[in-house]
Amino acid sequence: MALQPWLIGKVNRIENETNDTRRFWIEVPELTSFDFIPGQFVTLDLPIHEKPNKRLRSYSIASWPDGSNIFELVIVLDSGGTGTPYLFNEVKVGTEMSFRGPQGVFTLKESLDEDLILVCTGTGIAPFRSMIHYIKNNNIPHKNIYLIFGCRTKASLLYYQEMSDLQKEIPGFYYIPTLSREQWNGNAGYVHTVYELLCIGNKPAKFYLCGWKGMIDEARTRIADMGYDKKAVNFEIYG
Ligand SMILES: Cc1cc2nc3c(=O)[nH]c(=O)nc-3n(C[C@H](O)[C@H](O)[C@H](O)COP(=O)(O)OP(=O)(O)OC[C@H]3O[C@@H](n4cnc5c(N)ncnc54)[C@H](O)[C@@H]3O)c2cc1C
Repeated sequence: MALQPWLIGKVNRIENETNDTRRFWIEVPELTSFDFIPGQFVTLDLPIHEKPNKRLRSYSIASWPDGSNIFELVIVLDSGGTGTPYLFNEVKVGTEMSFRGPQGVFTLKESLDEDLILVCTGTGIAPFRSMIHYIKNNNIPHKNIYLIFGCRTKASLLYYQEMSDLQKEIPGFYYIPTLSREQWNGNAGYVHTVYELLCIGNKPAKFYLCGWKGMIDEARTRIADMGYDKKAVNFEIYG
């Protein structure tokens, strides 16, 4: 496939989501509509290095296709990194950035005829937020959808109220936030125990995993140990 052209994105709005996570809305003035498939990502070319290949950082699109030319990213600050300190400290409303996209194949299959087990940690929720809104807005027939979201504490829950509301609005959608470092009235521990319990008896399911490598490697091993075929597992590794 030919490489996509670089586009200019203009930051349109910025909001803190947690103390180290920020939402960025990016407008693409040269397009009337920025079209993508939920689950895809964009690649930003950030002015952080003279070598082009050291300037590229990819981010899943956290919003859903709505016919507009604005999309949202949700980004966690890695203070030891180069790109996110630039995004958090230098980028303001009105900043222009070169980007390429949409890219990637971490997308839903055409027919959702099995339960979906969506497993993520931190900003790995981004593609799932896009998919869930898309399913709701387009009344896409589906079986049960479980969103298992892991983070450390209540203060680091992303889109908590929104996901809780969606659970009430979408029949068969179950939001299971899981905290690893704080006891609360919800699930505690790691995401892995949650899907292992849900999938006792190996009911037919498709797994989608998104986040950092450690979580994904462990989930892939555990899901295979449960007897699921590799083909039932899709994943997007953030690094
Ligand atoms: C498809 C895809 C989608 C993604 N979506 C998202 C998303 O939606 N939200 C999100 O927050 N992230 C996402 N990411 C991750 C994102 O692309 C970046 O990797 C992340 O933001 C960190 O970038 P950075 O430039 O701040 O860190 P980097 O500069 O890339 O550094 C990363 C880490 O490596 C360490 N490091 C760097 N260089 C060295 C070195 N030479 N030796 C030792 N250690 C080193 C740094 O200390 C740092 O901790 C996604 C990644 C991919 C591939």
